[in-house]
Amino acid sequence: MKALVYRGRGSLVLEEQPQPHPGKGEALLRVDACSICGTDLRIAAGDHRSYADGSGRIPGHEIAGTVVEVGDGASAGIGDRVFVAPNYGCGRCRACRRGQVNLCDKPRAIGITEDGGFAEYLLLQRDFVDQGNLLCFGDGVDPGAVALAEPLACALRGSRACHIGEGDVVVVYGAGPIGLFHIALARLAGARAVVVCEPNVDRRQRALAWGATSAHDASFDELQAALEGAGATRGADVVVVAAPVPIAQRQALELAGPGGRVNFFAGLPRERSRVELDSNLIHYKELVVTGTTASTNEECHAALDLIVDGRLDAGSLIDARFDLASAQDAFGLAASGRALKVVIEP
Ligand SMILES: [Zn+2]
Ligand SMILES: [Zn+2]
Repeated sequence: MKALVYRGRGSLVLEEQPQPHPGKGEALLRVDACSICGTDLRIAAGDHRSYADGSGRIPGHEIAGTVVEVGDGASAGIGDRVFVAPNYGCGRCRACRRGQVNLCDKPRAIGITEDGGFAEYLLLQRDFVDQGNLLCFGDGVDPGAVALAEPLACALRGSRACHIGEGDVVVVYGAGPIGLFHIALARLAGARAVVVCEPNVDRRQRALAWGATSAHDASFDELQAALEGAGATRGADVVVVAAPVPIAQRQALELAGPGGRVNFFAGLPRERSRVELDSNLIHYKELVVTGTTASTNEECHAALDLIVDGRLDAGSLIDARFDLASAQDAFGLAASGRALKVVIEP
């Protein structure tokens, strides 16, 4: 089979590999769609700690496919069309027992610690299949859109942490794919207004199309004025920071009103992760400041439902599709920032 393999900094190589076959309890997937994530760009650039040089691993963790072969006793059926919930754990630690596989002592993830979906086929181990990480979806649904249930599940985890309710006024920093998901999720949760901060003019337009009430450049005064315009004179009910920008975290605490909820969704680059925050803002406004990372199977289920039911048009984020042979072009386009989501269809 053909697979895109990480061979070292800046080097993703299309290689011919032996096609795997499932053993006991395992399942073999034909990959129908695998979308490129910012994480994949970091892997390709050699900036991901799980990818040592020469690791020879296949990235890709936003995957939809079809089960084509199963081993004895596998809890998956041939012909099943499935979304791959990528995160799984040891199954035994405290976090795993609470269903928080993303916080497992020894977290594992397809395309991160294990081979992923930028290949014609993907072999899934028994414990992965048994932990319920293959989620079926019906015919007539675009696998490319289904693959986006992964980033959507992550956004959903962040959005839920903010307990957005009817009539809330929400600020979202960043209008990349994740920021757009946050806008749509806030609207679905009943937000009255969603004010967006995004420096890229094209992405501001996308934000408005995705339900933002107003979208602004990085001017703090403008954001405050927009909140006042939305009737939130004492500040926002919720602020989601979906951009890896330290100053946005600092501003989030200022824009949040009394009793506000804040989610630091985006991680910061390691060398820039120390940020000076005014903790009195948290104290006197009784802010709830949260962080979320990755997602659980339950969130993947909920995200997949949103896409399959058509409540959220994830497919409209896909700006380009490539086959595996054109993977270099696909990565080039994704890295250019000119496309929101680029999907590889092996
Ligand atoms: Zn991703
Ligand atoms: Zn665990």
